[in-house]
Parts: sequence; C-alpha cells; structure tokens
Amino acid sequence: MTRHHVYITTTIPYVNARPHVGFALELVQADVLARHHRRRGDHVRLQAGTDDNALKNVQAAERAGVPVQEFVDRNAAAFVALHRPLTLSIDDVIHTGRDPRHRAGVERFWRACEASGDLYRKHYEGLYCVGCEQFYAPADLDDGRCPEHGTTPQRVAEENWFFRLSRYAGRLHDLIESGRLRIEPAERRNEVLSFIAGGLEDFSISRSVARARGWGIPVPGDPGQVIYVWWDALGNYLTALGYGTDDAELRRWWSAADRRVHLVGKGVVRFHAVYWPAMLLSAGLPLPTEILVHGYLTADGRKISKSSDNTVDPTALVDAYGTDAVRWWLLREVPRAGDADFTHDRLIARADDELANGVGNLVNRVISMIHRYRDGRPPVPGGRPPVPPGSGDRSPVPPGPGGCPSVLPAPDGRPPVPSGPGDCSGDEVVAACERAPALVDAALGSFDFRAATEAVRAIVDAANRFVNRVRPWELVRAERAGDGDAGRRLDAALAVALDACRTVGVELSPFLPDAAERVARQCAVVDGRLPAPSPVFARLARH
Ligand SMILES: [Zn+2]
Repeated sequence: MTRHHVYITTTIPYVNARPHVGFALELVQADVLARHHRRRGDHVRLQAGTDDNALKNVQAAERAGVPVQEFVDRNAAAFVALHRPLTLSIDDVIHTGRDPRHRAGVERFWRACEASGDLYRKHYEGLYCVGCEQFYAPADLDDGRCPEHGTTPQRVAEENWFFRLSRYAGRLHDLIESGRLRIEPAERRNEVLSFIAGGLEDFSISRSVARARGWGIPVPGDPGQVIYVWWDALGNYLTALGYGTDDAELRRWWSAADRRVHLVGKGVVRFHAVYWPAMLLSAGLPLPTEILVHGYLTADGRKISKSSDNTVDPTALVDAYGTDAVRWWLLREVPRAGDADFTHDRLIARADDELANGVGNLVNRVISMIHRYRDGRPPVPGGRPPVPPGSGDRSPVPPGPGGCPSVLPAPDGRPPVPSGPGDCSGDEVVAACERAPALVDAALGSFDFRAATEAVRAIVDAANRFVNRVRPWELVRAERAGDGDAGRRLDAALAVALDACRTVGVELSPFLPDAAERVARQCAVVDGRLPAPSPVFARLARH
C-alpha cells in the first residue's frame, strides 16, 4: 500500500468573537478526513489556525474596550480550546498575529509575486465591507448592502498595491475545468467557473497604515502600507509549513505532497478557489489539489454568525449532549451541498435514534447475551467440543419460533437469497461489514459525510435485524432443553453479532473517536471474557 502525504487545512477564523457551531462543522469534517487517512496508513497533517490581523478584530477590541493583542489572544484561545470538547486531532495551529513563521513567510510570498511582475501601485476607490474584509462591486451588493452582513459598505479611496489577477483567468479556468484543481461539490465548482468566465479584475492587496490602524504586516519595502488581511491569511496554509523558515517541511507537506486539501465555507470560495490559486501560480508554487466547500448552518431557521444574537456555542452543546452527539449531528444532517438547520430537538432525536437506540442497543444486547448465555466468553462458531454420538443433539431443527427463517432478506433490497433451513450465518450482516470500508472510502472521497456514516449505520441496522430474526433467547431455551444444534446455531449467531459490533467500533473511529473506543472496549476479550455490559451511549431525550 502506498502511503500518501495528505495535508488538510481548515480556514483560519477571525477572532473578533468566540466560535459558533458553524465553525465546529468545518473542524469536525476536517478531523474526520484526517482520521480516515491516518487509519488507511497515510501521513497526515491537519492544520488549523486563527486570523489575527483583521481590521474587524481591531474594531471588536475597541468596542470591548480591551487592548487588541489581549482581545485577539483571548478569542484565539477559545478557538484552540475547541479541540478538546470536539475531540479534534489537529496537528498544528498557527496564529497569524504572533507566530514567527507567519510574517517571514508572508513577506517571502509578497516578494515572489513581486518578482513575477504581478504587483503594482494604483489609486483606487471602492466599497469596502469590514465584516467581510473585502471590496464589493456595486453589482454584488443587495440593495446597496453587503450580501453577507446586510450592512452598508464604506467608501474607501486611497493608493494601494494591486495583484494582477486578470493575468491568470485562462490558467485558472483550465486547472479547474480539467479537475487538476478539484472543487466539491459541483455546484460550487460551476459557480467559480462562471465567475472566472465573467472576467477577473486585479484586486487591492494593501491598506494604508492609517486605515489598518497600524494592525497587520507592513508591505515589504513600503512601510506606509499594510498587507491586505486576506493575502496575509491565505498565506497561512504555506507559512505554517515553513514557507520562509523551513523548506524541508514545505516540501513534505506542500510541494511534494500527494494531496493538499482545503476545507472552506461557501462564503469564502472566491478567495480560496480564485485569488489563492492565482497567488500560488504567481509565486511559482503548486496549487491545492482539492477545495471542499461546506454550506452554512442556521439555528431555528436563522443564519448563525459570530456577530448575531443566535450564536450556538459548540462547547455548551458538548457540555449538554456530549461530543459524540454533536459530531454525529454535524456529520449526519448537513447535506453535501446546501445548508442545514440546527435545533436542539434534531440533535437529540438523531443521537437517540441512531446512537443510543442503534449502536448502543446493539452492543449492549450482544454483550449482555454473551454474558447471560456464555458466561461472557465469546463463542467460536464450530469451535465447540464435538457432541458425542447418540446424545440426542442431532435432532432436526423444529420449525417455528426459535429457528432462523430459511430465506434471508438480501441487502439493498435485492431479491432474497435462499439459504438452507435454519441458516444463522448472518450473510446480510457479514456483507454489510465487508462493504463498509469501501463505501466509507468512496463517500469520503467525494466529501459525502452522510453517505460515509450511513455505511456504518447499515451494519448496525443489519445486525439488529439479524438478532431479532435469529432470536438467541429462544435458541438458548432450546439448547437448555437438550437441543445441541440450537446451541451451535446460538454460537454462530452470537459470533456474527459480536463481529458486527467490533466492525462498528472500527468503522466509527474517524467519525466518533470517543464512542468507537467505548465500543471497542466492550468487545475486547480480557482473560477469555468480555467486560460486563455497560451502556455505550446515554439517551438524551430527558435533557
Ligand atoms: Zn460583509
């Protein structure tokens, strides 16, 4: 198996306020991809960070009456602290305001684009939204207001540095259309292609020191100007890898990496799929291989944002419902393309239905039955001592309850697979277990977290159906009444069910690492016996 180098990034949020659940979505998605690649043997680096140098951070600090650095550090710490409640496997965090790797790299990047002849000064007037930290063309505004924030942008006139984006329209179009730069889902890719087709204009990449309030990275060789915060922020994907300070790391995780994957929200696609690739082309660096775009979350039907009053604090959610329930909701209910509405009731219903009543019920009943019927010793099908001849154990299976149906329903609604009388082989369960890894690979390959988790849920469903059909509690009664064949079938059924539980534990690991560990512990044999059954999930409905 080839071990690939896979570099996965989250966007770096402005630290003008504390994080909300919409950002938790991106973190959890990135974490799932990272965990999945690691367990497939790839070398993975999951990179996160904070965008400290934005003007909106300065303004928020002023409103709060707190010195900017203190304000930025405090909120940055709240973002970093999310790794614990959400069980994130982040490898590195870069803070653009205070990390010595960052400024050196941003300066080097500026010089590289300057050397390509892509930077120039010109007088500029435009409409600037500080919330977005971007200029808007009048045509992009809704009734004169920012489409993201609903605020009136401010008119700005000054001499700035510009980047020759117009020069790269053709190459960007070819790279995206050919799939060398893959943008998922297709709706977003098409949006980017039509934006490029509409013509690309050079964009301003600096501010006067006065307008930036002295906050940010000065333009190399022009101390009266500060580098545009987006130029600075996009650079984090490279500066965190040592661009400007450590070329070996840069080579490993960027220039020679097999995959360079950015996860981004739909509101910042243009920056990541147009500006950033053009900047990389200008600097002579490889582009990302994939840009995976997620939608927005609403809460009770209204847009969530850090500045609105309906923020949902992910840490508070974890305190109330636990990490697994929060991660599961984000992975199960947010569609591959489009937005999702968060409500507490939906989170609770999803967790109770699929985790407590699904996975939890399966594991608990299987472990309990093995304790009750086999003293906690996992049965080995066909591995029991041979039954002495004439002991009466070879009597034919009585029809009716207690046996297995002679026809098993097939997976995926295909016609039923006929099998021998009293078949307890659990073909459907075994098939679901065998199919799951490839289904998860394919689903995560196309950024479809719903389909990936569905493959795990399918095992649980198949196994719960199997147990209901086989009715081990009746087999054990028949066995105790002297039916040795029922005993053998009971062993076979329990072995299939326990195997399914173990597979669920393995397959859940990228999605719900904490729960996966609890499932694995329940199924781990110590001194020949399984641990006493204990619930893997608590029901949430009473909250
Ligand atoms: Zn805005």
